[in-house]
Amino acid sequence: METAEFEKLAREALKQLPEKILQQMDNIDLVVEESATNDQLAYSVVKEGKSLLGLYEGIPLTERDDYGMVLPDKISIFQDSIEAVCTTNEEIVREVRNTVIHEVAHHFGIDDQTLDNIGI
Ligand SMILES: [Zn+2]
Repeated sequence: METAEFEKLAREALKQLPEKILQQMDNIDLVVEESATNDQLAYSVVKEGKSLLGLYEGIPLTERDDYGMVLPDKISIFQDSIEAVCTTNEEIVREVRNTVIHEVAHHFGIDDQTLDNIGI
């Protein structure tokens, strides 16, 4: 898939979130990258046998008591990694949407353990 098309998918996945969620999101960027860098892999906890499809880096809303003058939070969506686990375009669309939702949840301070429990 073309990068531009994939980026559009990612932006659309974000736009499809409920209005109330979107209104509360603050100081956050969404970027599409090919795959995770070593630094990003080190930062994240990836289960064995699973590849990193997306990553949230930043300060969750729940931890912003003393917040200001910092770089925006960043959600990375890794195109090559997502395409590697999908065979059809529909699967890619679904995987992008799931990944965006998962990373946005981190922005709201929900940890992987909790997301894992509810299957997101
Ligand atoms: Zn996560």
